[in-house]
Amino acid sequence: MDHSPLIIAGGGLVGLAAAIMLSDRFERIDIFEKREEPIFPPSMQARSLQLVISARGWRTLEAIGLSQDVLDHSLKLNGRMRHHADGADIEPYSVHGHEINCISRNTLYQLLTQRAEALPNVHIHYDSVVQDVFFEQKAIDVMHYGHKKYWKYDLLIGADGVRSKVTYHLNRNGTLSHQLERNNYREIRITENLWERDKFHYWHSPKAMIGAFPVHEGGFSLFLVHQNEHMLELLVQKDDSAFEALFPGVKDAVPDIRERLKHSKGGFLGSVNAQNWHHADNVVIMGDAAHAMLPFMGQGLNTGLEDLWSLSQIIDKEGITSPELIQSFTSTRRVQAGAIRRISENQFRYLTGKFTDRDYAIKHLADHHLINHDLPTTYMGCAFSLDPFAEILEREEKLYASFTEEQIAEELVRMGKATDDR
Ligand SMILES: Cc1cc2nc3c(=O)[nH]c(=O)nc-3n(C[C@H](O)[C@H](O)[C@H](O)COP(=O)(O)OP(=O)(O)OC[C@H]3O[C@@H](n4cnc5c(N)ncnc54)[C@H](O)[C@@H]3O)c2cc1C
Repeated sequence: MDHSPLIIAGGGLVGLAAAIMLSDRFERIDIFEKREEPIFPPSMQARSLQLVISARGWRTLEAIGLSQDVLDHSLKLNGRMRHHADGADIEPYSVHGHEINCISRNTLYQLLTQRAEALPNVHIHYDSVVQDVFFEQKAIDVMHYGHKKYWKYDLLIGADGVRSKVTYHLNRNGTLSHQLERNNYREIRITENLWERDKFHYWHSPKAMIGAFPVHEGGFSLFLVHQNEHMLELLVQKDDSAFEALFPGVKDAVPDIRERLKHSKGGFLGSVNAQNWHHADNVVIMGDAAHAMLPFMGQGLNTGLEDLWSLSQIIDKEGITSPELIQSFTSTRRVQAGAIRRISENQFRYLTGKFTDRDYAIKHLADHHLINHDLPTTYMGCAFSLDPFAEILEREEKLYASFTEEQIAEELVRMGKATDDR
């Protein structure tokens, strides 16, 4: 039987960052990763080729000494450009000129893997699937190249993503739920520099949305999110008028886009809600294992890196000396994860055109209020500050609730919507 002071289930982005961050606190760290090789497998590429790193993620990358490398491989974006039939509108990410950093998932993976592999006390075991957790024995079963091995741990971190085995075992009593959206996600790489490279570009409608991130190495990565029932009309049937009407100009820029999207690997969008995030003082989950969310705020990884930051603060100050310490970590993080999940769902409704006229009217009023008072928007709070997500959500909800029916009615009229569609 083997033993490790710290076992990390899952060598994804959060698992690798955790090993680097905690490498001087543990004599030995073992990561078990089910992929067969360190390289990023094409089968996972339905998960966004580009990642936005914001303030929270940045703080952790700085702490593990990777921020400069990430910066060297990132592009800075200053806003979104919404394309429509009459042209395009620019929505700056921040009225204070803040920019977000965008890096390819593969590059970030490689940077983290290289750094973790260079640490003498970090051992990454590939082709190693964590299958079972035995909480009383403080042990896991790992299937490694077809052989089962039993490993004991002092601390187990579950960073094994959206279908986490650790999360499953912690929540066997029905305290885990997965929510799948009726939406499909597809992404392709375009080598031409078709649009402005310091913006995220998007086209949206209630049926589907296209987004395009510029890629550091050149070109764009373009994704389509569509409701499952619109697949035929958008990508399969010969007549491309529906696609043209929803996404003006895209097909002119990329003539074979429908064909390429049709043949790209599709993925589903959804979120994870787990009640139990820890066991005693020796098992804890983080990253997507704890809180996978809809990706429209670009905060999934950033939140996972913030989990890690918070845990490392506790380990630094007190060590993990009692179940109460882990309990306080997980209860705080669960509240923050719940808030960013809500914010991300709202952003999903907004970006995919699912807002009602009334929702848009309230959002316009809120945006005007924030600009007039030089206050941060919800996006700015999430992306550029370290303010707790729960505070940001509360601020937004309070502001939205503060508008009177008269103000909303006036805004609807200004928008050319005579009636309230509540
Ligand atoms: C379309 C899309 C766009 C996104 N854009 C952004 C963005 O811009 N910014 C952002 O912050 N976040 C973004 N996210 C979210 C981000 O991708 C995730 O939050 C992040 O990858 C989570 O990292 P993780 O390490 O927790 O999980 P993962 O990256 O899923 O890693 C989990 C690892 O565990 C391994 N594993 C799984 N099961 C086992 C097992 N039983 N045994 C051993 N190993 C196992 C897997 O092989 C994997 O390597 C986006 C997500 C999507 C879907």
